[in-house]
Amino acid sequence: LVQPSEIFGQRQNSTGFDLSDEGTLARINAARQAPLDLKAAPMIAAEATGEAHTVYNPATGAAVGEVIHADADTVSRALEASAPWTAPVSERAAVLRRAADLYERNFGPIFAILAQEAGKTMLDAVGELREAVDFLRYYADEAERRPDAKPLGRVTAISPWNFPLAIFTGQISAALATGNAVLAKPAEQTPLMAAHAVALLHEAGVPRTALQLLTGDGPTVGAALTSDARIDGVVFTGSTETAQVIRRAMAANLAPGAPLIAETGGLNAMIVDSTALPEQAVRDIVASAFQSAGQRCSALRCLYVQEDVAPQMIEMIKGAMDELSVGNPWHLSTDVGPVIDREARDQIASYIAAAGNRVLHQLPSPAEGTFVAPALIQVDGIEALEREVFGPVLHVATFKARELGQVIETINATGYGLTFGLHTRIDDRVQQVCDRLHVGNLYVNRNQIGAVVGSQPFGGEGLSGTGPKAGGPRYLNRFCAPTPQTAQE
Ligand code: GLU
Repeated sequence: LVQPSEIFGQRQNSTGFDLSDEGTLARINAARQAPLDLKAAPMIAAEATGEAHTVYNPATGAAVGEVIHADADTVSRALEASAPWTAPVSERAAVLRRAADLYERNFGPIFAILAQEAGKTMLDAVGELREAVDFLRYYADEAERRPDAKPLGRVTAISPWNFPLAIFTGQISAALATGNAVLAKPAEQTPLMAAHAVALLHEAGVPRTALQLLTGDGPTVGAALTSDARIDGVVFTGSTETAQVIRRAMAANLAPGAPLIAETGGLNAMIVDSTALPEQAVRDIVASAFQSAGQRCSALRCLYVQEDVAPQMIEMIKGAMDELSVGNPWHLSTDVGPVIDREARDQIASYIAAAGNRVLHQLPSPAEGTFVAPALIQVDGIEALEREVFGPVLHVATFKARELGQVIETINATGYGLTFGLHTRIDDRVQQVCDRLHVGNLYVNRNQIGAVVGSQPFGGEGLSGTGPKAGGPRYLNRFCAPTPQTAQE
C-alpha cells in the first residue's frame, strides 16, 4: 500500500482536540466563554471609511457584533496601498507557520466566533480550526518547494460564510506564501471571523500592505475587486452563478492571463448497494448530509440505495435522524446548528414544503433562530434536483443492480462533479465507478465530507470548479506567474 507520506512528504496535520475527553471539553468551554468585543472593519494600509452594520447570531437572532462595510473610496485606497510581499520565501513561510501557532493558541475566541457568528457546532469548529492551521503550514511547505517562483502580483480572495476561517485562510495563505499581495473580501455574513483571522496574520508578521481586509458587500467590494485592471488573479469559493459573474467581469477588465481559481457548487450523490454494511452506511449518510446543517459544498444531496435493501435502509436513516439534536450550537450536545440566515432558512423551508408527501421524514425545527431541521425527501433520481439546496435536505432514490451504469451517467449529466460516495464491498464496482464518474473527490465506504489538507486535496470538475485542488501539491502553481513547467500542468 502506498502511504500518503510517500507522495506528500512527512508533514504533520494539526491534531485538534479530543472531544470525547470531558476535561478537554471543559477547558475549551471555559476558553470560549471569555468576553469578546466583536467588531470588524476594513483593515487596510490607508484610511478606511464606510457604513456600520450589525452582525446577528443565526441561532438566537441576537446582535453579536458590528461591521463597517468598505465604501468605494476605501477599496480604491486599498488597491493603491497594496504591495506584493517581497520577503524571501523562507521568511514568508516562517510567518505563516507562526500564524498557524497563533491560530491554535486562540482556539477559545475562534470557537466562540464560529458558534455565534456562523452557527458552527463544536465538532465543526474544531474541524475548521484544524483545516485552517493545516492550510497555513501546508502552503508554507509548498512555497518552499518553489524557491524560484514569482507571484502573480495582486490577488483578490473572495470567500464563503460556510468556512469563514478555513477557506478564508486557505485562499489567503496560498496567495501570501507565493509572495502575492492579497485583497480579501469575506462573506457578508461572517466578517467577525475574518477580522479576527487577519489580526492574527498581521500579528504573526504579514505586512499590512500585503494583506488587506475589505469587509463589505458584493456590489461594492466584490465587483470592484474583480474588475480593476490592477488585479492579477482572483481566488473564489461560492456559488457557480457568482463564479460566472466574476469570470465575465474579469474577462472584460483584467489582463487576459489573470486566473480565476474557483471552487463552486455541487450536486453530490452517494450510491449504496446491497453488499454495503448497513450501520456503517447509515452513519456516513447522516454525517455527509446533515453535519454542518448540510452547508458544505461537499455535502451529500442525493442518495441512491439499491432497491432490495432500500426499505430497511430508509427506516434506519429515519431512526438515525431522530437521534440528532438540533439547536443552538453553543450547547456542546448539539449536532445540527442553524442555517446561516433568514433568507437561507426561508428558501430551504419552502423547498421542503413544496415537496409535499414526498417528504419521508423531518424533525421538528426549533421555533427561534434560523433553523431548518433535517429532512429526507423521496425522488426518482438526481435529475429531479434542479439546483443545489444548501442545507440539511437529503434526497433518496432507489436503483436496481442492472441500472448502475445508467445511474452513473445520470450523475455525470448534472454537469457538476465535486464529491461522490460509494458504499459497497464489491471491488469491481469500485473500479467501475472510479473509471466512469466525473468527480473531484470520490470516497469509498466512508463519509464524503471533510477533505484533509495534504492527503485529500479538495476540488471539483465541470460546474464545480476550475481546479487545481485546494490542499494539494499543484494548488500554488496557479498563484505564481506561469513558467513553461507550470503552464503544462
Ligand atoms: N472542504 C470541505 C469538505 O471537504 C468543503 C468545502 C466547502 O463546502 O466549500 O467538506
